[in-house]
Amino acid sequence: MNLLYPYGTTGGGEYLIHHGIDMAGNPDTRVLAAGDGEVVAAGDDSQVAYGPTTDFYGNLVIVKLDQDYKGQPVYYLYGHLSKVLVEPGQKVKRGETVGFVGKSGIALGYHLHFEVRVGENSYASTRNPLLWMEPLPRRGIVAGRILDAQGKFPPEVLVILEGKERWESWTYRLGQGINSDDELGENFVFGDVEPGEYVLEVKVGPHIYKRRVVVEPGKISFVEIKAID
Ligand SMILES: [Zn+2]
Repeated sequence: MNLLYPYGTTGGGEYLIHHGIDMAGNPDTRVLAAGDGEVVAAGDDSQVAYGPTTDFYGNLVIVKLDQDYKGQPVYYLYGHLSKVLVEPGQKVKRGETVGFVGKSGIALGYHLHFEVRVGENSYASTRNPLLWMEPLPRRGIVAGRILDAQGKFPPEVLVILEGKERWESWTYRLGQGINSDDELGENFVFGDVEPGEYVLEVKVGPHIYKRRVVVEPGKISFVEIKAID
């Protein structure tokens, strides 16, 4: 399974840096509140820029979660909706319909853009949404940190996870609104991986590095690789 346009990447040089993740859908697909909270923005973004420019997310919904994370407020954003069913100030419960999938704003086709912001409701404060979603039943998460020989995060290095399934992604381009989780300090994540034994492979500088990873249902397996030169 190939994550075509993962969080924090340009999808291998194809697009702008992605501040969220995309999910498939069509105009009949309901968009459900991801968690209990209060709607802080709803409608089109033609007047206020919630991203790099106005008319970027099109019809959007932003919800501030009732629950903080380490004393910081947490927001989630849905973009490119065809229809918005909530209003600012409204309380929503997890699972409640807040709108329908669309392709408004800058979108190539029907899909749902999902974004998580920690600390403040800004494009500069995003985190990887995969770490905020429960994995599908009986699936696990693999997150990790790839460091170059100088101890820095190398941007957009191909990461391959091979086992029962084969997954490919890239490391984040940190900065420019892309942030690691405060606790994990990761620069890549795979969500919804079938449990089992895997080998994670990356090429940093001249060398290929491999690590064994065990994926367990409902858990995050963390891998760190430090390049030697
Ligand atoms: Zn997106």
